Amino acid sequence: MTANILIAIFTFALLALLLGSALCFAAKRLKGDRNALVEQINAILPQTQCGQCDYAGCRPYAAAIAQGEAINKCPPGGEATIQALANLLEQEAVPLNTEHGTHEAPQVVIIREDDCIGCTLCIQACPVDAIVGTAKQMHTVITDACTGCKLCLPPCPVDCIDLTQRVAA
Ligand code: SF4
Ligand code: SF4
Ligand code: SF4
Repeated sequence: MTANILIAIFTFALLALLLGSALCFAAKRLKGDRNALVEQINAILPQTQCGQCDYAGCRPYAAAIAQGEAINKCPPGGEATIQALANLLEQEAVPLNTEHGTHEAPQVVIIREDDCIGCTLCIQACPVDAIVGTAKQMHTVITDACTGCKLCLPPCPVDCIDLTQRVAA
């Protein structure tokens, strides 16, 4: 009788262990698949890092899309990005949600260096380190690195940053 109880306890423990291992393996596999999907989505997004989608950058938006967020909140990407996301996720393309902004031709900013007071606020605002300069020195923009996200415009106290159309290379 005691032996039967011990066998039952052992069998139950073994089954619980096997079930736990299987669940753990499945969870890791699922996480790996989800991470891979987030990377695929992120690779489609334009990497402007402007935050117009209401996320802190392209990768957080990619993570949200992987969890079911709408694919039409990225104005810099526009219809082409929506279509690419729709293809990847095998869902219908929908029009850009213009509550987040409208799609514009690629832009870049230029600092009017004679007016710059070297406050460094634009450097702190730039998500892609496209501005160089030190305190009390004039600042300049690395055009190739600038995504045209406009995040440096509001902080400039002397309004010496101009937005212009990016000239195709
Ligand atoms: S709106 Fe588009 S480009 Fe801007 S941060 Fe979001 S995903 Fe990136
Ligand atoms: S320089 Fe300004 S517009 Fe260009 S990426 Fe940096 S913050 Fe955005
Ligand atoms: S925020 Fe304006 S004034 Fe300040 S460093 Fe940048 S460009 Fe110059």
